[in-house]
Amino acid sequence: MTAFHVRRELLSGIVPSCTDPEACIRQFAELQKQIPSLYALLSVNALALAFTHFALAPAWLTVGFPAAMVGLCAVRAVHWWHLRPQAMSAAEALNRLRATSLLTILFSVLFVGWALSLTTFGGPFEQGHVAIFVAITVVACIFCLTHLPVAALLVTVIVIGVFLIHCFTSGNSVFIAIALNTAFVTVVMVRILTNNFLAFLQLVASKAEAQRLGEENQRLAHTDSLTGLPNRRYFFQRLDALIAASAASAGSDASFALAIFDLDRFKPINDTFGHTAGDRVLEETGRRLGAFASDRVTVARLGGDEFGVLIHAAASADEAAALCGRICSALHAPIQLGETQVAPGCSGGLALYPSAGRAADALFDRADYALYHSKERKRGATTLFSQEHEDAIRAERAVETALQAADLAAEMEMHYQPILDTVTDRITTVEALARWTSPKLGRVPPDRFIAVAERCGMIHSVTLLLLRKALADAARLPPEIGLSFNLSSHDLASSETVVAILAAVRQSRLDPRRITLELTETALMRDFEGARQAITLLRALGIKIALDDFGTGYSSLNYVHRLPLDRIKIDRGFMADVDSDLGRSVVSTILDLCQNLGLDGIAEGIETTEQLNAVRRQGCRYVQGYLIGMPQPMTELLDGLGTGPVLVRIAG
Ligand code: C2E
Ligand code: CA
Ligand code: CA
Repeated sequence: MTAFHVRRELLSGIVPSCTDPEACIRQFAELQKQIPSLYALLSVNALALAFTHFALAPAWLTVGFPAAMVGLCAVRAVHWWHLRPQAMSAAEALNRLRATSLLTILFSVLFVGWALSLTTFGGPFEQGHVAIFVAITVVACIFCLTHLPVAALLVTVIVIGVFLIHCFTSGNSVFIAIALNTAFVTVVMVRILTNNFLAFLQLVASKAEAQRLGEENQRLAHTDSLTGLPNRRYFFQRLDALIAASAASAGSDASFALAIFDLDRFKPINDTFGHTAGDRVLEETGRRLGAFASDRVTVARLGGDEFGVLIHAAASADEAAALCGRICSALHAPIQLGETQVAPGCSGGLALYPSAGRAADALFDRADYALYHSKERKRGATTLFSQEHEDAIRAERAVETALQAADLAAEMEMHYQPILDTVTDRITTVEALARWTSPKLGRVPPDRFIAVAERCGMIHSVTLLLLRKALADAARLPPEIGLSFNLSSHDLASSETVVAILAAVRQSRLDPRRITLELTETALMRDFEGARQAITLLRALGIKIALDDFGTGYSSLNYVHRLPLDRIKIDRGFMADVDSDLGRSVVSTILDLCQNLGLDGIAEGIETTEQLNAVRRQGCRYVQGYLIGMPQPMTELLDGLGTGPVLVRIAG
């Protein structure tokens, strides 16, 4: 606050005006504390003066007038006593301050007039009492009116002015001395008072500023700077508040819903178009999500490309799911980035309170699990967390516990399934498939324990253990047969794992050209650029790369063109109806693509001779499936290799 401002504030305080409403109310509240003392003091002083003049002056001056004044003081004191400044508007406080200033004039004139009129009735002692009465009363009034300087000033000017005139006209040098002395003291007091009042105004202003800064800090601490949406901290505070309110009401309508949304293709957009474009996508996403915010819906950015939504008092799961559906569709609309358009898409997970969980963490984890489910199985949609998921979580936890306690090297082994070249009728490659027999849970299918290992951060050690086993077994294979090994979608995203894979291959002394690594699309989705670099590195060593389960993803074609691949494995899901028109056309389209790009196409999951013949007719050279050979331990596989040509055996 500058000196100029302070002066203006001071003036506005002395002559009440309403530049600062907060200061007005505070000023009134402080004044209220002093006013009853002021009236009590006036009354006592007046009664004392009336008493000393009782026998000397007429009754109307020593009884009537003082009684009326004391009565007036009492009425005013009671009136002030009942006022409630906290409930007052600034304008009302201001009006009362102005009225009080005016009333001060009336009181000053009445009291000083009355006191001086008594001087004509007594001797020197009584006249001395009048001088004392005027001096101490005016000093006391100035004290009590600290928070209304204009009133204090009026009292001083009127009372001391009249007193000075009176004393000078009386010609009595003692009284003139008393009057001048009193005038000097009161002027100094008014000066001190205005200084104090200035300090008071500054205090009020700095408190208001501190409060404003505090509120601003609070707002910033709760806002995401990029999107302007509330942030993670605010989201969890709201969540805690909703849980507390719902737990307290415990009624049937005590439910609410928590949803998490995550962009499906944010990372590739960020990698391809740069961070500024990524920020633009997040801003636009924030803007679209913000349109859903209301007093019943809280929307927040939780971090990265993850957003949270709280639906308060959700009437039903259907209502919450419908809102999530609308949010997903809103986020699916393409975003314009300069000349180009991108469609980041989004998936969601939804959990209901209290059925999915009563604690904030539990509820959030359930929504997160549902989101994970969407990402894996129904991208672009929202999954509602259900009892089925709860059971799956429990089963998964059992697998996780067993996996963490397992002696992996002893409990895991590899089985191998042959891939046949139908032109030469020879096995070209064997695919390594992991087998885990847990002493607690028995046989656990690989897709299950791999998923758990991914989730609990054990995938790096599991992959390397399995790869070393597979490489050791592969040393027993005839040199013309290669080894195909499955990588988890997390493996390529970790440069540490990629380096460890290269080291394991080098240590095994197996020719890297005999090794194929199978990847799924999820691996590429996770971090396309990272995956591309890792693939380039692995291929530089001679390792081949196969895209597994091809056709099950939703944007496979995108990747095939942009990645250096060697093989494509057509998902076994297409083999069931490979003889139908649709099945035929899907398989032949994929095979055409392979031919155009110079890749080997491998048909997976061949179980019957009809399927084998169908894919062969469509020009598929490489096949894999139970019909060709079951996954089996290396020793059994090697025994089987000695039994002669596969196709002849099948035909026979
Ligand atoms: P995948 O890579 O697609 O492996 C082929 C799966 O299909 C294997 O299941 C195999 O036993 C099965 N299969 C082969 N021929 C046929 C057939 O004719 N009909 C049918 N219905 N199924 C057939 P498995 O061994 O249960 O493995 C399941 C998945 O687990 C694998 O799918 C792969 O994604 C994953 N997996 C297996 N071993 C490993 C591993 O060592 N590391 C990683 N990261 N994943 C693995
Ligand atoms: Ca595979
Ligand atoms: Ca496969």
